[in-house]
Amino acid sequence: MRQQWCVLLKYGEMALKGRNKERFERQLLDNLRYSLADLGGPVQIKRRDGVLVLSAPAYQEELVARARRLIGISVVQPALRVPKDPEAVADAAVELAGKQHPSDPPPRFAVRARRRHKKFPMTSEQFAAFIGARIHTELGWPVDLDTPQVEILVEVDRHEVFLSTERHRGQGGLPVGTSGKALALISGGFDSPVAAYRAMRRGLRCEFVHFSGAPFTGPSSTYKAYALVRQLSAFQGATRLHVIPIGRAQRALATAGAGELQIVAQRRLMVRVADQLAQRLGAQALITGDSLGQVSSQTLPNLAAVEQAATLPVLRPLVGWDKTEIIAEATEIGTAEISKLPDEDCCTLLLPPRVTTHAEPQRLARVEGRLDLDQIVDELLTDVQVMNIDVTQSAQEPVRSCEVGEREETRRSAVVAHAVGE
Ligand code: ATP
Ligand code: MG
Repeated sequence: MRQQWCVLLKYGEMALKGRNKERFERQLLDNLRYSLADLGGPVQIKRRDGVLVLSAPAYQEELVARARRLIGISVVQPALRVPKDPEAVADAAVELAGKQHPSDPPPRFAVRARRRHKKFPMTSEQFAAFIGARIHTELGWPVDLDTPQVEILVEVDRHEVFLSTERHRGQGGLPVGTSGKALALISGGFDSPVAAYRAMRRGLRCEFVHFSGAPFTGPSSTYKAYALVRQLSAFQGATRLHVIPIGRAQRALATAGAGELQIVAQRRLMVRVADQLAQRLGAQALITGDSLGQVSSQTLPNLAAVEQAATLPVLRPLVGWDKTEIIAEATEIGTAEISKLPDEDCCTLLLPPRVTTHAEPQRLARVEGRLDLDQIVDELLTDVQVMNIDVTQSAQEPVRSCEVGEREETRRSAVVAHAVGE
């Protein structure tokens, strides 16, 4: 066996048991294959107890970048694959260390060895010491096991040994799809994209709905929602954004005398519409970016009043987060830059001078009773624009990717339809 670069993917949380574990691994593999579909060349994927080994040496950096975005992977570790022979491993380790790190001044180093496969002539400690001695003699580097500047990671596997000098943190979480499907309500703000990302990390595949203030506002909020969903699709692949103009219905609520209930009544209408849309899409929950007490519409009584308009569970992944935490995460996942752009948000369209912090169900029922809500919901649902979005796949011919031990298959082609309307 020649030396070859590859990428090791480890999945921490999936230290799950039995059938569940199989299901999670299968979904992770599906998601992985999808995310590599347009790479440009075949990728070999091998499964080893709790570790996936990806090989496509010509695309090493791209493999690392894509794996780091994949939900369900806890560690992404570029590695050199070498024959399972102590001398050959030591030779390769000396060469790798020397190449990857300048020896002037000589860095303090440590070798960390572990054996996934126990059939090997040395224990992990013996092997680490053996390789360490060679690096020390040949490169003149001082050993420092407590605070090394360079760590050489050695993993003994069934048929080969993997050598690494770096490891990256992955997204973690559960593979998208393992918990089912949800419809996320996305505005242009900081919160809802982070909420959707958190839902994805719990294994939910998300579709998105955005309510625009059209015809009384311009398209800026829709552009923002589109850009946000595009950014979020990096974590789950293909998704859809449903855009519903709600301006006229908002005005109807105002005309019905909603007054200080306006915001909560609008939110209830959104949830009512989203709930029906979700059921048509086969989604099992709604996701919102609410955080308890953040604004006056997000007090407990108001959240409760909104929740009553839904039949599906309304999940609020950020309920206990404060704004600083939310913005830090938005920055990390790349949505903050988009969220901070100005837009015409439908919620500010008919903003009353005072928003109640305690929307009483009877008062809401009285306002809503003056309207034919079922008809309004039906009309809104006939006016949905659907956009297919997928930032992970470039528009190009289907490429081939193969998996060892499985037959070669043609990957589905990229889905980059920016189509509006379905
Ligand atoms: P965000 O930053 O997500 O806009 P926010 O703090 O501005 O949150 P609100 O405007 O009170 O909060 O909205 C609460 C939640 O209601 C949002 O997180 C989102 O899930 C949903 N929502 C609000 N406006 C819209 C909209 N125009 N379209 C779809 N969902 C919306
Ligand atoms: Mg908002």
